[in-house]
Amino acid sequence: MSFKIYNSLSRKKEVFKPIHKGKVSIYTCGQTVYDDLHLGHARTYSYWDVLVRYLRYKGYEVTHVQNFTDVGHLTSDADEGEDKIEKRAKERKVDPYALVEKFIQRYFEDLDALNLNRADIYPRATQHVQEMIDLTKRIIKSGYAYEKDGNVYFKVRKFKDYGTLSPTPILQKKSKCRVHADTNKNDPNDFTLWRKVDSNVIMKWDSPWSVGVPGWHVECSAMSMKYLGETLDIHGGGYDHLYLHHPNEIAQSEAATSKRFANYWMHTTFMTLNGEKMSKSTGNMLLIRDALKMYDWEALRLTLVSSHYRKQIDFNKSNVRNSEALLLRVYRVFERVQESTGGKSESLNKWIREYRVSFEKAMDDDLNTPKAVDVTMLFLKKVSQSLGNKKSILEKSVETVKELLRVLGLRLDKEIVIGVTSGSSVKVTLSWKELVKKVSGSLKKKNKIDGLMEQLISLRVEARSKKDYATSDDIRTALKKAGVELEDTDSGVKWRVK
Ligand code: AMP
Ligand code: ZN
Repeated sequence: MSFKIYNSLSRKKEVFKPIHKGKVSIYTCGQTVYDDLHLGHARTYSYWDVLVRYLRYKGYEVTHVQNFTDVGHLTSDADEGEDKIEKRAKERKVDPYALVEKFIQRYFEDLDALNLNRADIYPRATQHVQEMIDLTKRIIKSGYAYEKDGNVYFKVRKFKDYGTLSPTPILQKKSKCRVHADTNKNDPNDFTLWRKVDSNVIMKWDSPWSVGVPGWHVECSAMSMKYLGETLDIHGGGYDHLYLHHPNEIAQSEAATSKRFANYWMHTTFMTLNGEKMSKSTGNMLLIRDALKMYDWEALRLTLVSSHYRKQIDFNKSNVRNSEALLLRVYRVFERVQESTGGKSESLNKWIREYRVSFEKAMDDDLNTPKAVDVTMLFLKKVSQSLGNKKSILEKSVETVKELLRVLGLRLDKEIVIGVTSGSSVKVTLSWKELVKKVSGSLKKKNKIDGLMEQLISLRVEARSKKDYATSDDIRTALKKAGVELEDTDSGVKWRVK
């Protein structure tokens, strides 16, 4: 099956054909690094991770470049306001370079915690100013840019297809443009390639036009061309970039090279938080690092990819609870396989093959991750109904689920520790509360808890025999908090740690 991508440029799903056989070049717009990431960012970056993982799964050699914007991005996404990094550095009374360093480090910490694979190259704008100056020179030479008072602007009306990527008209009538727009521009719609700055600005560079900084858009063109060539396979970004940043990237790149800039454009839809737009500017956001204190990373990761990347998704407690329940079902089937002695049947082999085909079919259809999860759950149901299969086939089923769900960024490698005890004839040395505390401490140190569990279960059996169900429930709840689940079975009380 061929891989299909919804191309924002043609507004259609298209069969993906790479420029060079077997190789894929991907550039995704990264973070302006002056703050921590929230879950909305994580959603967008999870999809680039899934895209890369899936293409690699299909055997492509992928090069993924993602930039760090550490200069040039003004507080408005257009050419107005202050540089976001300089502004934040001033507010915090720190050096802008130190601020950038700190947030890049924290960016990696957050992505690692969510098991997002790193891009292959992370170019920073401040380290590619010369490339941006060179590209600007080329654009001037090709007649698409002009200099005025030390600034350089791109002539948008000269570029024939300007803004075709944008779902809404991008060019505004002069009368509709802001009164205070930069008067150096011949047309208020023109955008800045180089901006002269005052002497009190810290991050600035010499150029043929003035001491200044590059415009925001030009960094992505210069850096993607440097690392991936003048035409790349896939360019990705949040859907907000459809309206200005990406049309500008196309215009300036193609004006310079006379070549198509990117063959496929992919855009992620935003994540909301409790029904409202999640964004830094409104403050309605949950930082990744805060979410990780509240929820299991794997449940978060599953939640992020549980809707299609072009569909809006809301982040709320019930969505994470759904993911937790799904994961629990997955781990339960793994556990049943682990416990099973197996039989003689080989019927599952056929289902393993079919599962892989359905998973690939879903992912080939423009990365349909929710469908990929659905077919996985159907397959797992089949596995749990087929425990009479040979043990090796049962294990192969589990390995296949792990392999395919890794494409979505899950690990599914939590160790399952199971014990069964009747809880009788055990000498109890401590109160149940003290025992639970010890269990919790032992788990943290990765020590065995069998002896402690024997005692706790014995206390719980005793409580139940006295019809003291409140204590029996309290023990169960406290253990769950500590990470141990109890299940009453015919052969005794089963406990499991995950
Ligand atoms: P920001 O620095 O907040 O402007 O975000 C940088 C990029 O992250 C945006 O351009 C989007 O591509 C992406 N992004 C921001 N907020 C969200 C969100 N709520 N959901 C998905 N992606 C987002
Ligand atoms: Zn960009």
